[in-house]
Amino acid sequence: MNDHASPQAAKARLFVPARLSAGQMLDLTPEQARRLASVLRLKVGDRIKLFNGVDGEWVGVIEGLGKSSARVLPETMTREQTTPNGPWLAFAPLKKSRLDMVIEKATELGVARLIPVITKRTESKRVNLERLRAQTVEAAEQCERMDVPLVSEPVKLDGLGAVWPEERKLFVAAERLGATPLAAAIKQNSGPGGVLVGPEGGFEKGELDWILKQPISVGIGLGPRILRAETAAIAALTLLQALSGDWKE
Ligand code: SAH
Repeated sequence: MNDHASPQAAKARLFVPARLSAGQMLDLTPEQARRLASVLRLKVGDRIKLFNGVDGEWVGVIEGLGKSSARVLPETMTREQTTPNGPWLAFAPLKKSRLDMVIEKATELGVARLIPVITKRTESKRVNLERLRAQTVEAAEQCERMDVPLVSEPVKLDGLGAVWPEERKLFVAAERLGATPLAAAIKQNSGPGGVLVGPEGGFEKGELDWILKQPISVGIGLGPRILRAETAAIAALTLLQALSGDWKE
């Protein structure tokens, strides 16, 4: 393999919706073309990495590059596809910069699905799904994930059970209740799980009582301090990955 063909020589990593196979030319989006040409200043002949969540990761060569169009030819597969069964995160949407952080960090931490949940005290009742999805793609490209987490349509809290599978434990983050610490709850409940984090103002008492009664739910604590919602989400996903997720493998 000459230097150019080695995967280390790849100068960018892009998610593409198209299937990937050797010699099957791809057209990139105008936005991706702009990034390669204007931001990264790549040229025809440069190599980039490609993944689509199905066909593994590939190195491809840029065959054509204009300001708003690009064509890439996949050459060799560098990593086989993996589909880890990562934790899920149900979260009350936060104000923009805090929400951005949750989406980016959850993606880096291997979250498989993100579910916006509208609660009584949720600050941002309108969710820009397109924006959230674009952020998951960007974070997945950057952190070398092989897939992109799914972002569900927002649900009301009482509709969460309809989209949450029975076999997946829902660890409900509840401050001030003296609930079982998350690490202990994970050890008591093996198998895939996920976490529900409330809005900055917390859950209303009636909401919390109701969600904790659901058969999928386990109330959990994240220590003696009151965390910001984004800290709670990141801390909970970290524990899930470390104790029962892919950090153990
Ligand atoms: N305003 C509320 C705090 C809300 S914190 C109050 O003063 O009580 C936002 C969310 O983060 C909560 O709904 C909860 O899901 C989670 N959270 C924060 N700190 C936590 C803790 N120590 N244990 C468990 N969950 C916590």
